[in-house]
Amino acid sequence: MSEPERIVGAIRCLLAERDLVGRHIVVTAGPTVEDIDPVRYVTNRSSGKMGFAIAERAAERGARVTLVAGPVSLQTPQGVERTDVRGALEMQASLDRVLGKALDGADALIMAAAVADYRVADVADKKLKREANTMTLSLLKNPDILAGIGQRRTGQWPILVGFAVETADDDALIQLGRQKLQEKRIDVVVANHASEALGADTNRVWLVTETEQQLVSTAPKLVVADAILGWLARTFAEQK
Ligand code: C5P
Repeated sequence: MSEPERIVGAIRCLLAERDLVGRHIVVTAGPTVEDIDPVRYVTNRSSGKMGFAIAERAAERGARVTLVAGPVSLQTPQGVERTDVRGALEMQASLDRVLGKALDGADALIMAAAVADYRVADVADKKLKREANTMTLSLLKNPDILAGIGQRRTGQWPILVGFAVETADDDALIQLGRQKLQEKRIDVVVANHASEALGADTNRVWLVTETEQQLVSTAPKLVVADAILGWLARTFAEQK
């Protein structure tokens, strides 16, 4: 007998609205991990659950899904093609391969990954020894992967979805989300609070576009994923 999760997945697939058939959607998820030496690293608290939920629902709604995941301990959703990466530079290289030079390799990119803002300037190839009382780690700014893609995009494709995790109140969150939307030249920002998003099984988000903001009240991440994909399906339909 198939595993119960596979049976549930197959049933959900049959019941789902198949509004993403024929679309290739690339989703990034999880943190990136920036190595210090062979045993230590710098990272953040992202669990990958939001990105994996989006990948799962997108596949169930009929899309071909490529998931580029940082180091997380989550099962690959059924029907999803997964590539594992470690650092931000590796994630960028993987996306370059999937999207291609002309960015025509996908219909949409959903950047749910919490890409580390900085990486270690000199990664040691041997374990660093404990010596002085203080230690300074020199960090280099990582490229903003999404902003780079936003800058390279000449037309409307691929649709670009970004995330913003902040520790601000709702009004400031929406404002920061819209600022990010403009700076990165993307189509929608999923803005959420660090305290409600990181590691949790539920989330509460604002979908912020140039002209409006829509609240998705606290719900399981699969339900929030559906709201994001609903926005995407409507946008695909409008741009046909
Ligand atoms: O600017 P901020 O880090 O808040 O933006 C978050 C969004 O930008 C997320 O969608 C994240 O995946 C993306 N990002 C990126 N490259 C970075 C930092 C963030 O693509 N170096």
